[in-house]
Amino acid sequence: MPGTLYVVSTPIGNLGDMTPRALEVLKSVDFVAAEDTRVAMKLLGCFGIQKPLVSYFEHNKRARGDVILARIAAGENCALTTDAGTPAISDPGAELVAQCREKGIPVVTVPGACAAVAAFSLAGLRGARFTFEGFLSVSKPSRRAHLQSLVNETRPMIFYEAPHKLRATLADFRDTFGEDRVLFIARELTKLHEESFRTTIGGAIERYEQTEPRGEYVLIVAGGSEPETPPVDAVAAARARVAEGMSPSEAARVTSRETNMPRNAIYKALLEDTEL
Ligand code: SAM
Repeated sequence: MPGTLYVVSTPIGNLGDMTPRALEVLKSVDFVAAEDTRVAMKLLGCFGIQKPLVSYFEHNKRARGDVILARIAAGENCALTTDAGTPAISDPGAELVAQCREKGIPVVTVPGACAAVAAFSLAGLRGARFTFEGFLSVSKPSRRAHLQSLVNETRPMIFYEAPHKLRATLADFRDTFGEDRVLFIARELTKLHEESFRTTIGGAIERYEQTEPRGEYVLIVAGGSEPETPPVDAVAAARARVAEGMSPSEAARVTSRETNMPRNAIYKALLEDTEL
């Protein structure tokens, strides 16, 4: 009979968020598959738990996944953990879970902290729906394609970001969603320097021109209003500005102010006829 894969959430900063059930499961399993075994050893050590650890991270997940799977198939129970929060959420794990599902191996959740959910619950953005976007790619074309796919998104969009990339990401947000779009920022959740506030994309850009970004960030961009089709005149005016050398983003912004049409709709129309 196969064992079970337990998908175990761990705290995102505050050890007090370790759940009693997570501890119970970590004590009971035969081994722990961890993103970084040093981090896992430290965490388990804080709770007096000693377990055999197997590393399971992005770049060994194929080969290591097979080994873990074989052990579970042979009857051992395994707890999957990541460095912080919920496995498989912008973290390794999805592949192992998929492999277990394919082989009919039981997969059980031990839920707990997740930065995206914690941030959304603090944001006060009315409405129940959201999209989870995770990290933007470091590759410029992929980032641009990802953001462009969200131009007409009407649900709040949750992103993860590291401090050294925050300013570039805010600039990309401005070019995609406009500087007036509401943005919720949650930083260092559950930690000593926890901070969360609502601003606009433009407001955040100004703030982080003066303040060095530090710590871990969740960014929630409010959804846009339902897309409108801008009148032909507005698009023509924006096109003329681009022809005169203005950037499409600036042309959309200026024309939007002039015509009261949504900047994104004008920008989208410009994208459709230019190879940006
Ligand atoms: N699996 C994790 C989860 O369930 O939230 C996310 C792991 S992902 C590799 C790490 C990113 O999550 C960080 O770069 C940051 O964007 C976000 N994050 C993790 N902990 C956080 C915290 N305490 N406060 C704010 N954001 C956090």
